[in-house]
Amino acid sequence: MTIDLQNYTESTWRPASSTARQRLLDPVLGTDLAYAGADSVDMAGCYRWARQQGGGALRGLSYPQRAELLDSIRQVLQTNRDRYLDISLQNSGTVERDSSIDVDGALYTLSYYATLGRSLPDAHHLADGERVSLSRDGSFGTQHILVPSHGVALLINAFNFPSWGLWEKAAPALLSGVPIVVKPATATAWLTYEMVRDVIQAGVLPDGALSLVCGRPAGLLDALEPLDLLSFTGSADTAAELRGHPRIQHDGVRFNAETDSINSAILAPDGSNQAEDLLVREVERELTSKSGQKCTAIRRIMVPADRFDAVAQALEARFSKVTVGDPRNPDVRMGSLVSRSQRRAVEAGIDALSASCETLFDGRTRTLVQAPDDSACVPPVLFGARDPDNCPAVHRTEVFGPVATLMPYRDAAHAFSLARRGMGSLVASVYGEDLAGLARAAEQLAESHGRVHLISPEIAKTQTGHGNAMPQSNHGGPGRAGGGQELGGLRALNFYHRQAAVQGYADALEHIAPA
Ligand code: NAP
Repeated sequence: MTIDLQNYTESTWRPASSTARQRLLDPVLGTDLAYAGADSVDMAGCYRWARQQGGGALRGLSYPQRAELLDSIRQVLQTNRDRYLDISLQNSGTVERDSSIDVDGALYTLSYYATLGRSLPDAHHLADGERVSLSRDGSFGTQHILVPSHGVALLINAFNFPSWGLWEKAAPALLSGVPIVVKPATATAWLTYEMVRDVIQAGVLPDGALSLVCGRPAGLLDALEPLDLLSFTGSADTAAELRGHPRIQHDGVRFNAETDSINSAILAPDGSNQAEDLLVREVERELTSKSGQKCTAIRRIMVPADRFDAVAQALEARFSKVTVGDPRNPDVRMGSLVSRSQRRAVEAGIDALSASCETLFDGRTRTLVQAPDDSACVPPVLFGARDPDNCPAVHRTEVFGPVATLMPYRDAAHAFSLARRGMGSLVASVYGEDLAGLARAAEQLAESHGRVHLISPEIAKTQTGHGNAMPQSNHGGPGRAGGGQELGGLRALNFYHRQAAVQGYADALEHIAPA
C-alpha cells in the first residue's frame, strides 16, 4: 500500500495534492512506498497559526514545563520505535544498526534536552551573564537577558537523518518556547511524517506548536516574517540559494546552516600501531555507517608518509570483509544509499576523484548480497592522493557515500594545513598517545573545525565516535560547513532566543534576573 504523506498545518491534516506529488521509493527494490506534495498548503496561514497559537501556548509555560513536553514526545516515539526502524529499512535502505543511529539518536537527544530543561529556572526568560554596574554608586547598571523569539522556526532537513535531524532541531526550539514548522527532505519524509503524526495524535503538544509540510509548498520562505527563524541542513548549494532569499538577505530572518563538510582523520606523527589501529577502525566505521551518508563522515585520512602503505593495506583488508546489499538480509552489514539518484551522484563523485587519485580499493567489483544491479547500493571505495598539496579535488569534493581518500603528510604542520584546506569542516579526529601533542593539535584545528575529536588508547572503548553528533557538544562548522551552530547543550537555545541588554536601576534589574 502506498502512503499519502499528509501535511499538518493550522492544526489540520491536509492530503498531498494529487497533481504535483512526488514518489518515495524503496532504494533497493525500487518499489513505491509513499507520495508527498504540499501544493494545497497556505504557508502564510500555517506560520500565522504557529506564531499565535503555538508560540503563545509555549511561551506560557516555564522551561521545566516545556522540558516535560520533550519527555512526553520521547515517550510517544519510544513506544513506536520498532515501526520507525522498519520504515527506515524500507525508505532509507539501512541496516538496523544504522537506522538506530537516526531513531535512537533522536530519542537520546530529546531525553538529554528534557533533563537539561528541568534544571533551568522556573521562569519564562533566562539571564545572560552577570549584572554590570554602569555608575559609580552602583545604582544604574545593565543586565543581558535571553527571551524566546515570538517568531516561528522553519526547520528544513536533509534526507540522511529524517528522525535525528528533526528532533535535534525541535528539542531546543520547543524548550525555548518557539513553535516549529518541519520540512523534511522529500526522499525520506515518510519517517518524519509518522513521528509527527504519532506526536500529534498523542495530544502532548499545544495546538500550533508543531506543523509539518512534506514537499515544497509555494511561499515556504516568502511567507516568513522578519522575526522568524530558519534552521537548514543540507548541501552548500541549497544553503547558498536560501541565503540569497529576500527574507534572509533583506528582512533579517535569522538563518542557521549546516552543510557539506570534508572532514579529516589524522594519525599523529608519533602515533603507535595501537593508535593506527584505532584510526583504521574509525575510518571503516565512518565509511560503512549509513553508507557514508553522514555530514560528519571521514572524507580525508592523513597519515605520516612512511605509514601510508601500512594504513592502506589495513583499510583494504577491512573493507574487503564488508558485505553490502539488501538490508533485509541478515548477512548484510551495509545497506544502500538513500536513492538511485544519490547513487548516480556518488558514482559521478567517484569518477571525479578517480581522475586525480589512485584507486586503492574499489568494492564495486564485488557481488552485492541479494540486491538487484540497479539498486542504490554502493560498496566502499578508497582513494590515495600521494601528493595531496597538488590534488585540489580531494579537499573540495564531497562524495556523500562510502568514499574517502588517504593522503601522506610530512609533519604535524603539514597535516594541519591539509585539514584546513577543507575550508571549514564539522569535525577532525586525531589519533595518538602524546596527550600534550593531541592538545596542541586541537588548538591548531579548532579554528577551522566545529569539533575536534582527540583519541588516545585510554578511551578506545568509551569514546562516542568521530561521526556522532552528541547533544552535549557543538555541531556545526565554519566556512564551507555552513558557519552554523547546533546542539552544544544550552548553546543550542541561543538561536531561538533574542538577546537584549536591559539598563536601569539595580533594584529593577534584580526583578528581571534575580542573582
Ligand atoms: P539538499 O538537496 O540541499 O536538500 C536539503 C533540504 O533542502 C531538503 O529538505 C530539500 O527539499 C530542501 N530544499 C532544497 N532546495 C530548496 C529550496 N530551493 N527551497 C527550500 N527548500 C529546499 O541536501 P540533501 O541532498 O537532502 O542532503 C545531503 C547534503 O546535506 C550533503 O551535502 C550533506 O553533507 C549535507 N548534510 C549536512 C549536515 C550537517 O549537519 N552539516 C547533516 C546532514 C546532511 P527536497 O527534499 O524537497 O528537495
